[in-house]
Amino acid sequence: MQVFKPFIDGVSRDWKGSTIDSIDPATGKVWSRLARCGHAEADAAILSADCAFRSGPWAEADANARAAKLERLADVLQARWEELVEPEVRDNGKRISEVRSQFAGLHTWYRHFARAARDLAPEPQSNSIPGVKSTGYHVPFGVVVAITPWNSPLMILAWKLAPALAAGNTVVVKPSEMATASTVAFAKMAFDAGLPKGVLNVVTGLGHEAGEALVRHPLTRKVTFTGSDAGGQKVAEAASASVIPTTLELGGKSAQVVFADCDLENTVNGVLSGIFLSNGQTCVAGSRLIVQSSIKDALTDRLLERSRALRPGNPMDPDTEIGPLANAPHYQKVIEIIARAKQEGATCLLDGLETVQGQAGYYVGPTIFDNVTAEMQLWHKEVFGPVLAITSFEQEADAIRLANDTDYGLAGGIWTSDPEKGQRVAAAMHSGTVYINHYRSVDPGSPIGGMKRSGYGRELGPEAIKEFLQTKSIWTGTHPVPDPFPAPQHPHHD
Ligand code: NAD
Repeated sequence: MQVFKPFIDGVSRDWKGSTIDSIDPATGKVWSRLARCGHAEADAAILSADCAFRSGPWAEADANARAAKLERLADVLQARWEELVEPEVRDNGKRISEVRSQFAGLHTWYRHFARAARDLAPEPQSNSIPGVKSTGYHVPFGVVVAITPWNSPLMILAWKLAPALAAGNTVVVKPSEMATASTVAFAKMAFDAGLPKGVLNVVTGLGHEAGEALVRHPLTRKVTFTGSDAGGQKVAEAASASVIPTTLELGGKSAQVVFADCDLENTVNGVLSGIFLSNGQTCVAGSRLIVQSSIKDALTDRLLERSRALRPGNPMDPDTEIGPLANAPHYQKVIEIIARAKQEGATCLLDGLETVQGQAGYYVGPTIFDNVTAEMQLWHKEVFGPVLAITSFEQEADAIRLANDTDYGLAGGIWTSDPEKGQRVAAAMHSGTVYINHYRSVDPGSPIGGMKRSGYGRELGPEAIKEFLQTKSIWTGTHPVPDPFPAPQHPHHD
């Protein structure tokens, strides 16, 4: 059986610990194993990355040379992305059609940040001090630790790796123990594409072992993390011990606010894509549907009709519409949340456990609850699964209050034919991204990131490369420095 090993200093390495089984969520059977790394491998990877940062081809590469390396990587990815598809589908059960479309576009993130590297330039600073000029230079941190989740390992890695490398850092990745295979395969591909050894290392294993050892390593200079808010909090605590900056992309409980004047079919498509694509296992899942009372029945009927028709199946089959949840603990968590919502009195309009009966693996179909109130767990807890919570409102102000009634602040959607109302409500929503009459897009040009418990820092957009750079101000005197202790001026005595 294939074992996915750490990739350190340009080679697949042996490791000291045991292995972890990788289970195919469509079958519940072990399909591969991954190395359970610890301190020794974390140390080797960080030392390799630090060495590559300080000397050799990467240290000597200027921004144009780094951009050229990223473009070469993009070319190779564009030619070879198909090789990465199966490992990811086997690991996390995401439907092959979704993975294929994500991977066909992977190269574009690297091209975007190659351009951003070329655009880096020192910034003259205005200062009011005579006889001196100052300039801001953007310098990399050094070794960046990138910790990724299981839902979209390679896309989320691209959002971290491309800007971190464009900025001149070197990177050690700790992929999720629930979906490691595609990251290891990608790192080898990147090395084949000409990334110098040590510039990208992968340490496999558990978060509190390999992950924490990487974050706490004294040579680590910056951490970028995507995952749960509980994981993010631990990472930020560990990083604070050595005063290392973190970027945290965490969970969400995003609201879709639907006004009576919306285009119903358009809204149905947006709501379905927000909550049932990737089986709701996306950080921006539109999991709370806040709908104006007068159209609630019409919208709910249409959603139910469309959701019931979605076909569960093997994620490797291109016709499958509902794949499994990604892993056993997550499946268990989603089942418990559904049971609790029933106990607490939410009205179950569609039970995704019934619709997938007889399917082996970790399947939960589209699940829709109505009459969900703020007292219920389902209103507040991120499910990260195909569970939609519906509630209704009468007035715009109530919709805004309900949308903001969450600790999270990642994304939100608004459906209305009144552009002014759309803008007004968007301005009032406390979330890093708001979509109006649209949902779920991401693009290199537009930053993504959280407010409140959804984290801090931004990925993508013009700010992304700055997350991996520090400004160094260099002052240059152009006039003689005045004597700071001039001799006292005594009055003359004739
Ligand atoms: P998770 O927090 O369990 O794990 C994420 C990563 O952190 C894994 O690699 C894990 O091994 C590692 N980790 C866990 N504890 C650690 C520790 N103490 N030290 C170092 N590393 C540690 O999250 P998950 O279940 O893999 O992912 C699902 C979560 O990710 C959801 O909450 C989802 O909303 C969030 N997410 C957010 C975004 C975003 O852009 N905001 C995108 C995708 C997923």
